[in-house]
Amino acid sequence: MHSTPPIISLVIPFLNEEAVLPKLFLRLSEELARIPGYHWELILVDDGSTDGSHQAIRRHRSSFPGTVRLVQLARNFGHQPAVMAGLRACRGDASIILDADLQDPPSVFPAFLEKFREGFEVVYAVRQNRKESLWKRVAYGSFYRIFRRFADVEVPLDAGDFGLISRAVRDQIITMPERDVLVRGLRTWVGFRQTGVPYDRPERDAGETKYTLAKLIRLAAAGFFGYSTLPLRLATWLGLLAAASALIYGLYVIVTKLGGQAPPPGWASLALLVAFFGGIQLICIGIVGEYIGRIYQQVQGRPLYVVARETEL
Ligand code: UDP
Ligand code: MG
Repeated sequence: MHSTPPIISLVIPFLNEEAVLPKLFLRLSEELARIPGYHWELILVDDGSTDGSHQAIRRHRSSFPGTVRLVQLARNFGHQPAVMAGLRACRGDASIILDADLQDPPSVFPAFLEKFREGFEVVYAVRQNRKESLWKRVAYGSFYRIFRRFADVEVPLDAGDFGLISRAVRDQIITMPERDVLVRGLRTWVGFRQTGVPYDRPERDAGETKYTLAKLIRLAAAGFFGYSTLPLRLATWLGLLAAASALIYGLYVIVTKLGGQAPPPGWASLALLVAFFGGIQLICIGIVGEYIGRIYQQVQGRPLYVVARETEL
């Protein structure tokens, strides 16, 4: 057993969450009071907020039973880079990543910690129910199912970033120099003993979603192109398909010619073929472009985010 209590770091990235931060502090102080035997460290990562989030944090800081650190990014770098910034600031024996909007309920922490004590190094939360608009549920559901087929790693279904990782796993994840980062993908990729715990995902407690459609699409692309080269192979298959159909069409033309039939007028079929091949070529260029874009970003070697300042509150 530990002589000193283990330190658990809570990593919470936020963007303009003044509406929900007071409730978050309240819930955390209530829930953490029920989990004795740990030191708590709160890492709040400000992903470029422009509202009163800071005032809200300063006002409620005292209700948090542990250390509080505010990592301020120099602008909005996105949720995933903000999570990475938070993980790099952690000093705990384990880190729990959660959203600020209480959609990742702290009531699941005891289940995480129980599995952690059992020796699991990654404990991810699996959504049983999602109180969200139908289109979002369908989009998320199909994303995780398609991603699972595509990806080279066995990602668990319906698990986001909400979960606990041990210090060893964290140390691995934060050294990965990836530009287009998907934390839940890296978490699966590293291995170690992993397990899931089920939970019901509530609605956002207050405020509006900060994940725009464009940000969600970026996230999905980070998954598809970051964990699979299948799209590149798909390009090859599309090319082969096009070549095969051209061959068949060519044979057809020769046979009809030999059969002594007059050549068909042919404008429609020609136009169709041109469009077909043009389409396939563009798709393939696009797929290759996705990878080249990622290689280019990676080669530029810019950091994933810039920390403006880090303060202990
Ligand atoms: N977030 C962030 N940077 C962004 C977008 C979102 O730090 O560019 C934070 C946000 O404040 C919240 C978490 O990421 O703490 C999840 O975002 P949100 O709840 O808006 O996404 P949703 O649950 O609607 O998918
Ligand atoms: Mg949310």
